[in-house]
Amino acid sequence: GGTADPAALTDGIHLVVDALKNNGVETIYGVVGIPITDLARVAQASGIRYIGFRHESNAGHAAAAAGFLTKKPGICLTVSAPGFLNGLVALANATTNCFPMVQISGSSERHLVDLQRGDYEEMDQLAAARPFVKAAYRVHRAEDIGRGIARAIRTAASGRPGGVYLDIPAAVLGEVIDAERGAASLWQVVDPSPRQLPDPEVVDRAIDLLANAERPLIVLGKGAAYAQADESIRDFVEGTGVPYLPMSMAKGLLPDDHPQSAATARSLALRRADVVVLVGARLNWLLGHGDAPQWDPDATFVQVDIEAAEMDSNQPIAAPLVGDIGSVMEALAERSKPGRISAPAAWREELAARSARNSAKMAERLAAARTAHPMKFLGALQVIRDILHEHPETYLVNEGANALDLARNTIGMRVPRHRLDSGTWGVMGIGMGYAIAAAVETGRPVVAIEGDSAFGFSGMEVETVCRYGLPVVTVVLNNSGVYRGDEASTSSDPAPTALKARHDVMIQAFGGTGVQATTPEEVATSLRAALAAGAPALIDCVIDPADGTESGNIAHLNPKGITTGR
Ligand code: ADP
Repeated sequence: GGTADPAALTDGIHLVVDALKNNGVETIYGVVGIPITDLARVAQASGIRYIGFRHESNAGHAAAAAGFLTKKPGICLTVSAPGFLNGLVALANATTNCFPMVQISGSSERHLVDLQRGDYEEMDQLAAARPFVKAAYRVHRAEDIGRGIARAIRTAASGRPGGVYLDIPAAVLGEVIDAERGAASLWQVVDPSPRQLPDPEVVDRAIDLLANAERPLIVLGKGAAYAQADESIRDFVEGTGVPYLPMSMAKGLLPDDHPQSAATARSLALRRADVVVLVGARLNWLLGHGDAPQWDPDATFVQVDIEAAEMDSNQPIAAPLVGDIGSVMEALAERSKPGRISAPAAWREELAARSARNSAKMAERLAAARTAHPMKFLGALQVIRDILHEHPETYLVNEGANALDLARNTIGMRVPRHRLDSGTWGVMGIGMGYAIAAAVETGRPVVAIEGDSAFGFSGMEVETVCRYGLPVVTVVLNNSGVYRGDEASTSSDPAPTALKARHDVMIQAFGGTGVQATTPEEVATSLRAALAAGAPALIDCVIDPADGTESGNIAHLNPKGITTGR
């Protein structure tokens, strides 16, 4: 109406932005379109940083990584139906990885969608999201936007973190309400993830088990990295002398060259440990489900996890330390007198001897790869390792099959939460999203080590890297194929695993620096230059197409059937 004072009105779009700002959201990752373009504009005008991607999965992966790095839900903004579904891949992956994330999606008109009348981008997004996320909510009235955002943030960040879907129909975004009423409807979430203390009796039992163990082992998972309880974890590990194994994203919680790291004696540590403490690590496929023969069938498991239902998911848990990792580690330290737990020397020596043997074997492999031509994965990776060791604050993003396995084993981390990778699903496609988020959230340089196949899933986002001028150096280990590039085709088409690309030329189209490297020396020179420049760059490393193994370390997961094994 013509008489109302427009300054006294607000709408759904402004309320979403105000609610996010109230809750300390600094960045939104998304792809604009109907009905959320103005939402991105208003957010940007309000001082929130909006990072626009080329595909919603990548925006979503960026939000997930932001959640992992900051302990605050990363926000992803998507359009209706197809955009929503693209983002949902990342939201489901975030949930699987226990990263806090909120996907806010515009959606089409409820009265058309619910009668399936065929609206523009028609889809019942709330129902579609629900099986894949920690929780899914829909806002039906502008006055509920503040509540919806608060609920989404609380759910994503508290307890076991995860992905939350928040559906906001176009009509709600456009709904105009009284500004004062709107402002009064918003609130700030207090203590989004309050501490959760463990049961002291269980703490004492865990201490007893560890004190009596002959071959104790601590497994640190990415939940331990996420918890940001670095000091209490380090104090506990070092105070007890118990050997530890870092899962890939827990690398750097303690420096990888730590004398108590059993990483280079991993199989022996798993097979021989008699009391195992899982700290923010699930006993899932990545740990062989805790089953024999990979593990001692008589091993006793202690688990530190915020999610009570995680206990007994695979093996009996003798001491369920349900609580947040910081509080549990503090309780363990408080309730065990110094010296009560101390790893027997024989066990530490057994692991050290195996580590020395395995490291010597690895050193031989590295030396052979250093001079091999065409270049091997390990030829490129060892010079990258040396350069990253000079820059320990660099974030490392890593995906692929061989590119993942070999980089994980070759490149030691010295700082917590600086390695982001394929995670619990072993998914491909997180590369550029994670790299962009790491650069945006921390302002630090990022090196993304990518298999050539893995890179393809998010490769177009190098344009995003260039558009925002981010210090992301992408290193593609290009052996011209999925797994490897030398498979003979049985038809006139390329083999199913074959790929062919000059990724260095691709980034040049967007104004970034692209270099092709055919020797470890060229890799080193170009990586040093790229890190010094602090600008978008891509190094396409030409790797021997015959280097690499099918499915990397997890070939045993391929069904056998009647096809001949390769
Ligand atoms: P990894 O793959 O590195 O082994 P997982 O993702 O399997 O690690 O396990 C992470 C575990 O950490 C999850 O079970 C999750 O519930 C738990 N977790 C996450 N954050 C916390 C926290 N703050 N305190 C305790 N446990 C946590």
